[in-house]
Amino acid sequence: MIEVKNLVKKYGNHLAVDHLDFTIEPGKIYGFLGPNGAGKSTTMNIMTGYIGATEGDVLINGHSIVEEPKEAKKYIGYLPEIPPLYMDMKVIEYLKFAAELKGIESGKKAKAITEAIELTKLHDVSDRLIKNLSKGYRQRVGLAQAVLGMPDIIILDEPTVGLDPKQIIEIRDLIKNLGKNHTVILSSHILQEVSVVCDYIMIISHGKLVASDTPDNLEKLMENTTKLSLKVKADKNNIENILNSFDEIENVEYTTGRDETMTDVNITTPVDIDIREKLFYSFAENKMPIYEMTSTKMTLEDVFLELTQEKKEDE
Ligand code: ADP
Ligand code: MG
Repeated sequence: MIEVKNLVKKYGNHLAVDHLDFTIEPGKIYGFLGPNGAGKSTTMNIMTGYIGATEGDVLINGHSIVEEPKEAKKYIGYLPEIPPLYMDMKVIEYLKFAAELKGIESGKKAKAITEAIELTKLHDVSDRLIKNLSKGYRQRVGLAQAVLGMPDIIILDEPTVGLDPKQIIEIRDLIKNLGKNHTVILSSHILQEVSVVCDYIMIISHGKLVASDTPDNLEKLMENTTKLSLKVKADKNNIENILNSFDEIENVEYTTGRDETMTDVNITTPVDIDIREKLFYSFAENKMPIYEMTSTKMTLEDVFLELTQEKKEDE
């Protein structure tokens, strides 16, 4: 189990991690989801003892990463954003070296390396120099290093970044497999990725945890909201004047596309209220033709965008 307690990381005046508090239960796959710069890597680097925190602590199976880093790190395998690979080593040499660094007992080293190679399907390239491997294979070497000695907790920072679609599927399958016997935490800025791989999603925005739940529950969170998308032949100000009189509307966004005579309007309302007829007549009375109108339920994608979008007040 991992307990993250009131974690803060400041870079100068910039709050990269803003009082994070959460618990990771054993045996599940967790996804840290958030846009670039949200604080995912910083959080993972602190959890794994790579960098220090400004405030707070992380307990790994009861051991503080600050007070007892050696003990705490025993339970963790980590694939950082930029894997620490030595390009002039052969895969097998590198894994021996990594096993050494991790302090795996000499009697168990050979078995641990074989196991890691097997899991990451590296046997065909074990005698090749790392610098001669493709990006996909290098990523697997990084993963092999993370799973060496089969630690309880495996932390992977954007494990599929830069890979081609086939390699992405392979790595995802591997992660799902790992999740059967380990606690896995991975980060991604891609919603689709965490929703297919993870049992639990933690959405991080500006260093804060803004939502955490199963993919299903996050989706349900938004089931109570309807999204109306309109294309209207009028400009934003005129549309705004009309919509201001609608108390039922929770949120409105405007965008103008290539055709400047048209405005796209996205409206959210409670699910039990249908304002389509009222909208139709209001716009018609004001001689503002509606070209398109569709009504959809909010999706997980919408939840993610809504939770992580830049708030105007912050800018
Ligand atoms: P993510 O992994 O979610 O993309 P990061 O944890 O890498 O986010 O970064 C969080 C924030 O902290 C960003 O605004 C980033 O610019 C800043 N940051 C990260 N590392 C450093 C550093 N070493 N020095 C200064 N600022 C940093
Ligand atoms: Mg990152």
